Amino acid sequence: MPELNLVLLGPPGSGKGTQGERLQEDFRLPYHATGDILRAAVRNGTELGAKAKEYMDRGDLVPDDVMVGLIAERVSRSEASDGFILDGFPRTTAQAEALDAKLDELGRTLTAAILIDVSDDEVIRRLSGRRTCVKEGHIFHVEFDPPKNDDICDICGARLEIRGDDKPEVVRNRLRTYHEKTEPLVAYYEDRGILRRVDGSPPPDEVTDHIRAMLATLKMEEQL
Ligand SMILES: [Zn+2]
Repeated sequence: MPELNLVLLGPPGSGKGTQGERLQEDFRLPYHATGDILRAAVRNGTELGAKAKEYMDRGDLVPDDVMVGLIAERVSRSEASDGFILDGFPRTTAQAEALDAKLDELGRTLTAAILIDVSDDEVIRRLSGRRTCVKEGHIFHVEFDPPKNDDICDICGARLEIRGDDKPEVVRNRLRTYHEKTEPLVAYYEDRGILRRVDGSPPPDEVTDHIRAMLATLKMEEQL
């Protein structure tokens, strides 16, 4: 059976998380968002989990080798024998190299790195239009899902605000960081011939259809 070992790439607001969850259901692959891997490892108190916790407790980033080790633990489980989907790692070329080396040790290799491409303007439009209620965190969007009354949550009546992360200047900063770190990563996977670009600007269902069709083709090619 051909494996689908996937990495998801895309800017904040690209809908990467949503697409990852849908792919997981479609192809029955475990979906691993980096944050979830970390939290689970810490909770389960594995050796690597304890190590990761030390860094997190100090407010430091978890080093690449620890992170790659944690991913390897997950990928080695039987649930991932048909493949897996990673989101949030790698973020840098160094991490991508470390991941490739580790997968190689495990006799695995990445099938594709899927880049969900969304323009900066669209990201800013999506994120800066979000309004979050201060009480329960219900989310609205001035354009796509407007509340009935400006600045008031339809669900709980609390005040709506623009979260710090969604302020246009903050979004621009996040995008700058994303481009600096991720563009070399995109080039890295392009060099390896496994980059697949998907236009992330249409509605989520359409994006899912595109990815699904692309992966079905990939699977067929792998079987030949
Ligand atoms: Zn609310």
